[in-house]
Amino acid sequence: MIGPSEATGTRFVRVLLSGGKPGVVLEGETIRAWGADGKLSAEGAGRVTLTAVGERIRWNGSRLLGRTLDAAGAPELRVGDRKAGGRVRLVARKGELLAVAVVPLEPYVAAVISREAPPRFHPEALAAMAVAARTYAVGATAKPRDTAYDVVGSVEDQVFEGMDGVASVFREAAERTRGVVLRYRGELVRTVYHSTCGGRTESAEYAWGRDVPYLRALRCDDCADSPVYRWEYRMSAAEGRRVSGALGVPPGKDLRFAVASRTPTGRTNRVRISSGGVSRELKAAVFRKTAGYAKIRSLKMEIVPVGGEWRFAGEGYGHGVGMCQFGANGMARRGAGFRDILARYYPGTETAGEAP
Ligand SMILES: [Zn+2]
Repeated sequence: MIGPSEATGTRFVRVLLSGGKPGVVLEGETIRAWGADGKLSAEGAGRVTLTAVGERIRWNGSRLLGRTLDAAGAPELRVGDRKAGGRVRLVARKGELLAVAVVPLEPYVAAVISREAPPRFHPEALAAMAVAARTYAVGATAKPRDTAYDVVGSVEDQVFEGMDGVASVFREAAERTRGVVLRYRGELVRTVYHSTCGGRTESAEYAWGRDVPYLRALRCDDCADSPVYRWEYRMSAAEGRRVSGALGVPPGKDLRFAVASRTPTGRTNRVRISSGGVSRELKAAVFRKTAGYAKIRSLKMEIVPVGGEWRFAGEGYGHGVGMCQFGANGMARRGAGFRDILARYYPGTETAGEAP
């Protein structure tokens, strides 16, 4: 039975699984919960609903417990549809119930990369990704997002969908690089990454307006076999009207989308939307978000009007900053090790052993 105490020597990441809602459902064959004093305060089986009542937690519609609870299940605990991978801390805060998985660092790293890369990726590329994901997590535990959690289990930080279906190749990548992080002049690196750069990565300065010495644009010849090295998206007239309206330009028959400016790496910097005498220029990243990240896969793209519709033709997938994952895989297939891969995409940085 897993208890509430943490094994010594193991680092944990507190991952927000559910927030902004008054309640959460826990599932497990048996479920136990301990209060802040470490005493067992409730037991259940199968399915237990917890709700926040002000600053206290109601257990399965009956007993009112304290503000925080640590729950564990046997053989496992599920929160919503996710296998938590450890114990779960519940915190009632002004009628909102936060569910935070407290996951050991290495299984967390394995789970994150399992959602970022296909299992067929070369082990060295997966190892490089494990170091990147771990560095991000260690940085987050040093500067938590909230008093109750370090990271959000979604794209805001790193997607964490629980411990289901984490293939052994991902666990091996985490295990092989256990404790290794990436540093720049002693500081933890902001290890951002993306799927496919399309031939040239983007600098943090052009993408986000902040120069980071190890996040500058560089050539990448290794991602050409990515399925999204080139892509096309046909935007229908109706979808064009929706996007235009959502971005503040009432769409008429003369609706136009155009690239207004580009960054030095050729990515779209600003987009112009015009119709009926109204014209608006906006950040291309905002346009991409509104149109959908999975449709406009990157900003390295052209916009071509085609008979009342639009053809978007581009290269790569993602923001393009930092490590190119398909590029990492290409390098690994050419014989590069994970340290070579990291040194290329985060120039000037160094891997360091066990994190403090
Ligand atoms: Zn690339």
